[in-house]
Amino acid sequence: MQQTDRRQQYLQAMGIQVWVRRGGEVQRAEHHAEPEPAVTDMSETVAAAPPASASVSGAPLESSSLDWEALQARVVACTACAELVANRSQTVFGVGNRQADWMVIGEAPGAEEDRQGEPFVGRAGKLLNNMLGAIGLKREAVFIANILKCRPPGNRDPRPEEAQNCRPYLRRQIELVSPKLILVVGRIAAHNLLRTDVAVSKLRGKVHYYEDTGIPVVVTYHPAYLLRSPADKRKAWEDLKMAVRVSQG
Ligand code: URA
Repeated sequence: MQQTDRRQQYLQAMGIQVWVRRGGEVQRAEHHAEPEPAVTDMSETVAAAPPASASVSGAPLESSSLDWEALQARVVACTACAELVANRSQTVFGVGNRQADWMVIGEAPGAEEDRQGEPFVGRAGKLLNNMLGAIGLKREAVFIANILKCRPPGNRDPRPEEAQNCRPYLRRQIELVSPKLILVVGRIAAHNLLRTDVAVSKLRGKVHYYEDTGIPVVVTYHPAYLLRSPADKRKAWEDLKMAVRVSQG
């Protein structure tokens, strides 16, 4: 199958209508320009992340010198967040290419991820795979992780202290992968990674940087949100194209 055909297939799978010019160039069907909503569904805010000193019982040990195996073992054994530990089937460390150019960071495992031990394996995961496919990336080519390594019961939002406890693990994963680009999906992931409470609608379209690393971060909508609000898939497609440009330097 030609690359353009495959891309067209992925865009269609994302729910974005495409048409093909006679010359074969794939174009997204442009709808009439919609006014940007003043407030989007993604605009709820959360409190800023707590200061670095916050901790709960059994808080994770310093992780900045661990290799992959030691880090994974530390995550598996983590008991920092009592409610998450009591409710999890297993931890969900992250998956993919440990030398990837791209990292994708989401919020936290859901029920299916908790069962399978892998991030983004449910419906949202399928859409994420199609989003990556639309820009020519296989799921296996990127490294996928979450802000939290354990499922919050009932899929509630991660609590600030839980995100804080998990922060050293994600930080070390990012250091070990050392990606050219981080794609952050959704409000919770963006707020925790960038330590902001600015709405996703305002964070997207700009290049951010992860802490002191200089690694560029692009924010887009969470695939679960896009499943509920397919009209915003066109904006996610713009974000993905921007991320490609940024990752290519
Ligand atoms: N949503 C996320 O943010 N992460 C997952 O792993 C699955 C769904």
